[in-house]
Amino acid sequence: MANESVSGFCPECNRISELQVRSRVTATAPRQLFDQLDPGEDGLHSAQYSIAFCPNCGGVFLHVAATSEPSDLPYEAMLFPISNRRDVPGLPEPVRRTFLGAQSCFDTGNFEACVIMCRKCLEAVCAFLGANDGSLAARLRTLRDSGRIEAKLYEWADELRLVANDAAHDLEIRISKDDAVDSVDFVEAILLYVFALDRRFRDFRARRMEKGPEGSSNKAMQPDAPSARR
Ligand SMILES: [Zn+2]
Repeated sequence: MANESVSGFCPECNRISELQVRSRVTATAPRQLFDQLDPGEDGLHSAQYSIAFCPNCGGVFLHVAATSEPSDLPYEAMLFPISNRRDVPGLPEPVRRTFLGAQSCFDTGNFEACVIMCRKCLEAVCAFLGANDGSLAARLRTLRDSGRIEAKLYEWADELRLVANDAAHDLEIRISKDDAVDSVDFVEAILLYVFALDRRFRDFRARRMEKGPEGSSNKAMQPDAPSARR
């Protein structure tokens, strides 16, 4: 077991970690995996149950994985802890609901549904920020052009949109766990930027403005400090 790991979201650390596997047993696959079976798959081979630990906080996890019959497609789920949601403060309800939905799909191994929910979350962000016209691509461009999201975030959002398009329209495609992890991470970064960090930065700047003369004398002494550029 020395170097074996499974990736999973650690609620204690609030991020996806490489969980170190300490023990593994083989047994019949659980209902959670049968519920995920794609059309055309008849069943599952024996499942591997892993007891794993977060390397950062020591939290314990029970992970299960099995392949299907007849196509040997991989399926997996985290059986414990059951609820492991990341939250971003200050989200409007539709944004929060779709973001939690994306994570819920990820937790149960439904990676296609996960990236589609990530896309819905982006749509909710566009609607909240008032970009309602045209395709999602056009709405994201509107947000970029009006300065509501930075160029780099726009790039991430647009790539997420394309992954979700594939998931929604291409019957042959299977979304990998890595793509689903990255999609949730990118959406989280966008939400943090749009709803949490921007507000915190405005509060931060307002606090510094309140300080008055002390703030201005610092600026005069340190012309290259970030606060002096704005
Ligand atoms: Zn942890």
